[in-house]
Amino acid sequence: MADLYPTDFLRKIRNQIPIEKVIVTVLNIEVRHSSKWLRFRCPLCYSFHTATNRNTNLARCFDCNKNFNPIDLVMAVGQCSFVEAVEYLKSKRH
Ligand SMILES: [Zn+2]
Repeated sequence: MADLYPTDFLRKIRNQIPIEKVIVTVLNIEVRHSSKWLRFRCPLCYSFHTATNRNTNLARCFDCNKNFNPIDLVMAVGQCSFVEAVEYLKSKRH
């Protein structure tokens, strides 16, 4: 599936939009600012036992034990395919 897109294009899509912006602005996921980390409602288990990492541009759920990059998050929230998630993020870049 990933072969449909060049590697650098996917890297750009994955890194160009900050993970916090994907959560807050692009996907409108519910968040809590209770600590120094932005916590978001996990799209899989709905817990707030989560964190985001700006350096890696990943969001993590400690209950699911899973990392989400922006593409993974769009797929989980939108229950869409990889290609749909990439096209969606591409349309949100500007
Ligand atoms: Zn979870």
